[in-house]
Amino acid sequence: MRIWDIPPEKMCRQHLLGEHRELHALWSIIINDKKAYAHHPETLRWKGKLKALYLRHEALVKEMTERGYKHHTSLDPAFATGKAVQDEFVNTYEEQVRILKEKGCGCRV
Ligand SMILES: [Zn+2]
Ligand SMILES: [Zn+2]
Repeated sequence: MRIWDIPPEKMCRQHLLGEHRELHALWSIIINDKKAYAHHPETLRWKGKLKALYLRHEALVKEMTERGYKHHTSLDPAFATGKAVQDEFVNTYEEQVRILKEKGCGCRV
């Protein structure tokens, strides 16, 4: 499970759509206080920052829409509380760029 800190417009189809799917799973884990993945590093860094996660979702959806992908899964803005900016990282931005480059996918990093 990973939420990238890479601008969505740089991401390939697979990583854009994959992150979008995982973001919904993560959102559900946090708002429902689910036990599964509760201690996952990605869960921990987004707890208390649902506003920031909400904004990341908006950015992914904007890019998906521009590429012509359908989106029918809005998040409830009532839960979009806490910090609006993500300033904790599982991998630094530079590490994320390296990870994506090594995958050899279509991400333009
Ligand atoms: Zn969505
Ligand atoms: Zn990619």
